[in-house]
Amino acid sequence: MYRTHTCGELTIQDTGKTVTLAGWVQTIRKFGAITFVDLRDRYGITQLVFDEDLNHQLEKTPIGREFVLQINGIVRERSNKNPAIPTGDIELRVESFNILNASATPPFTIQDDTDGGDDLRMKYRYLDLRRNIVKRNIELRYAVSRSARNYLHEQGFMDIETPFLIKSTPEGARDFVVPSRMNAGQFYALPQSPQTFKQLLMVSGYDRYYQIVKCFRDEDLRADRQPEFTQIDCEMSFVEQEDILHMFEGLIKRIFKDVKGIDYTESVPGMSWEDAMWHYGNDKPDIRFDMKVANLKVPAHVFPDKVGEIADTSIAKSDFKVFNEAETIVAIAAPGCSEYSRKQTDELTEWVKRPQIGMKGLAFIKYNTDGSLKSSVDKFFTSEQLAGIAKAVQANPGDLILILAGDEERTRKAISELRLEMGKRLGMRKADEYKLLWVLDFPLFEYSPEENRWVARHHPFTAPKPADIDTMIYHSPVISDPEKYLQHPYARIKANAYDMVLNGNEIGGGSIRIYQRNLQEKMFAALGMSREESMHKFGFLLGAFEYGAPPHGGLAFGFDRLCAILGGSESIRDFIAFPKNNAGRDVMLDAPSTIDTKQLDELSLSIKPSV
Ligand code: ASP
Repeated sequence: MYRTHTCGELTIQDTGKTVTLAGWVQTIRKFGAITFVDLRDRYGITQLVFDEDLNHQLEKTPIGREFVLQINGIVRERSNKNPAIPTGDIELRVESFNILNASATPPFTIQDDTDGGDDLRMKYRYLDLRRNIVKRNIELRYAVSRSARNYLHEQGFMDIETPFLIKSTPEGARDFVVPSRMNAGQFYALPQSPQTFKQLLMVSGYDRYYQIVKCFRDEDLRADRQPEFTQIDCEMSFVEQEDILHMFEGLIKRIFKDVKGIDYTESVPGMSWEDAMWHYGNDKPDIRFDMKVANLKVPAHVFPDKVGEIADTSIAKSDFKVFNEAETIVAIAAPGCSEYSRKQTDELTEWVKRPQIGMKGLAFIKYNTDGSLKSSVDKFFTSEQLAGIAKAVQANPGDLILILAGDEERTRKAISELRLEMGKRLGMRKADEYKLLWVLDFPLFEYSPEENRWVARHHPFTAPKPADIDTMIYHSPVISDPEKYLQHPYARIKANAYDMVLNGNEIGGGSIRIYQRNLQEKMFAALGMSREESMHKFGFLLGAFEYGAPPHGGLAFGFDRLCAILGGSESIRDFIAFPKNNAGRDVMLDAPSTIDTKQLDELSLSIKPSV
């Protein structure tokens, strides 16, 4: 037997027992004739004491950091207790030891506070994974998956695997492709998600499906994306949107309970996409704090339903050129910031001018605690106008009103970023507070200026709202005037789609699906696909819809992101055992890499010389 106990389990109750441990050497400390060693395994650390006799042996067969040892010894109470660890009351007096394996000196210290940089730790990821801090993340990931599996099993969901070698149907992200040796010149694609398979499973009658599954997307890797990532992928038949929201609210609440011990009892509010954009400038608002956006000027065609809600402050009709020329003017009130110094407001102005935000400037109004208003644009506006802005933004005395003006898309994005930044600076985005939200009623389509056509905002299998089906059936998707695409009837079609948002992060999303062949064909046509093309790419699905497809819908959660949020980290990489770096490389394996000519020949491939 290699061990009787783990390194995390012995306590004062075990005093006097003879035990065998096995693990890795974390630290070695010599005090004269005595040597102390911390022995580590997945479960914890136990202090070992090598007395004089054994010290001689240690001199003959020296040990070093990360050596694998087997220790036989007697548990005894420690004089110098360490309350920070569960085994801190005891130590093991070593009777005999066995070096199971030696270790080269590790390239960085295997401790929470390591001296290894990112690249080095990625290269030696198997050593990085020994660190407690990393191990805890991997354990949390397992706890999340276990909790999800238990809940879904209890709800009657079946875990059914779907293939990884499938057909390339690029729509959305780019596919990763795999050449087929047996079918020269032909390729499989790796699935961007099991979307069509889970729908086919519904056609087959498996009315509750789930899978914790790898998905592959060949995207340019913006910060914190991985080319392969994991989803909790789910689908249900005979459901309406409400059923899905209810079921998966339950899933997340269960995960909160099992993993974090949090009883999230309040029901998850829903917010329309339009409201989210209007009040927060963003389709995944962080609702841990308020600071809503006031819309002071917005082009009527962007949010036709909101025109009546544009604040009437008459500021767009002043001598201030910046506001007059702006398409959009929006504002927020930062609570308690009216006493910001010049230096602070200058710094905020620089912040909004950064290329990532891209604004030309920032106007502000100080709503002083005595009720007076002092603005950077005083000379253009009457005090009534300033008071009108303060009212529109629901400011209180003591607030600093921040105003951005410019073109609609950029300005809305910028006010959203500024709101999040102020929320962060003011400590309103608390790490230990969790706020869930459903964002609903997304537009079905998005306009692609490059292609002058509609693309699916979610994916082409998402059903329009029933009330919008006629618009799809009776209007052509052709956009004759690209300038006025927002006035095209398709711009107003809403989807039966939903996203779950947690603290400003989209953690999952899905939709009620199209299940009738004719509507699905109409959808493909709306996306600019010819009949031949849609048959070539999705003939299998259209065919299946002719054999009794049930109404169905589902969603998928971004499993890595969910783990990262629950683990209090910004980076999904920390929660993946073997992640790729920001350039999509596995630096440990040194992949991707070239392959042999022999392999290329077998695949009937040749590499184009790079230009
Ligand atoms: N397959 C979708 C995705 O990967 C999720 C869904 O609609 O269920 O985003």
